[in-house]
Amino acid sequence: VNYQGCGMSVMEMSHRSKEFKAIIEKAEQDLRDLMDIPDSYKVLFLQGGGSLQFSMIPLNLFHKSKKADYIITGSWAKKAAKEAAKFGKVNILASSEEDVFTYIPKVNPEKFSKDADYFYITYNNTIYGTRYTEIPDTANVPLVADLSSMILSEELDLTKFGLVFAGAQKNIGPAGVTIVIVREDLIGLASPRIPTLLDYQIHAKNGSLYNTPPCYAIYMAGLTFQWIKEQGGVSAMQKINEEKAALLYGAIDNSSLFHCPVAEKDRSLMNVVFVTGDEVLDKKFIAQAKEEGLINLGGHRTVGGMRASIYNAMPVKGVQALVNFMQKFERENI
Ligand code: PMP
Repeated sequence: VNYQGCGMSVMEMSHRSKEFKAIIEKAEQDLRDLMDIPDSYKVLFLQGGGSLQFSMIPLNLFHKSKKADYIITGSWAKKAAKEAAKFGKVNILASSEEDVFTYIPKVNPEKFSKDADYFYITYNNTIYGTRYTEIPDTANVPLVADLSSMILSEELDLTKFGLVFAGAQKNIGPAGVTIVIVREDLIGLASPRIPTLLDYQIHAKNGSLYNTPPCYAIYMAGLTFQWIKEQGGVSAMQKINEEKAALLYGAIDNSSLFHCPVAEKDRSLMNVVFVTGDEVLDKKFIAQAKEEGLINLGGHRTVGGMRASIYNAMPVKGVQALVNFMQKFERENI
């Protein structure tokens, strides 16, 4: 209620105050340090969630051929492609939908559209538990990636991307702020007819302060960036995340009750999907786990089964508790 003695909380201060200016500038600098963001990229703090980026990306990047390549690895990619098709030509290069998105399709680069305005991927597929481990080489076509459910969980070479974005609510902070990191040459390409607030250039020119930003969510994001720095940065988070994922996938693979449907090479570090193969038993597992304090283990409403979302904030001991419970459940139900 009295931020650094200024007599106000962050919730009530003006976004034009010197206190808030310091908060947003520090948040941006800490994110730049954590992700090693080159100076030639702008960091934008926007609203509208990951979903608004499904529209802002085509609205801002379609400018020459008005064509984009999309790889469909789940329902978020599908939604993004559907939105882009309202504004230009969407070329679906590959989809793993026929196998319930249990793998990341590998596409021969010869099939990539050389004249596309951009190439779009969903880096981590929150619902299906897959992730890219090899970034497509799109040569001169800017690569755009949805990092919503993996940002700051593992190291990324941003120079391989033209634009990346992520809603805050998984690894960063409360919902309300969406981070966009965009290479400067991709700003200012939009038609002047697009809504002002959807133009990256407006936000870039105004340091994300064209209108009132989600101040409190940005403040909270800044605190998380500091916390990640204190943990040792993204490489340290990645080590912990790999340890957590290895523990959980190891338990699933060694179990005769649980099974992970996802191709081994494409398994997500953040969202671990598993099933027993029996819907009734899955429901029993989720209910009993809840009684043990292991909550939120139901799979997405569209796929069922189980999903353990083990974002940065989940400690190794949380995953160990889940593994212990899975082993107990297996002994009692096999
Ligand atoms: N992309 C991915 C990968 C997601 O997981 C989500 C939400 N879970 C979204 C986009 C949509 O984000 P939002 O709800 O912030 O619009």
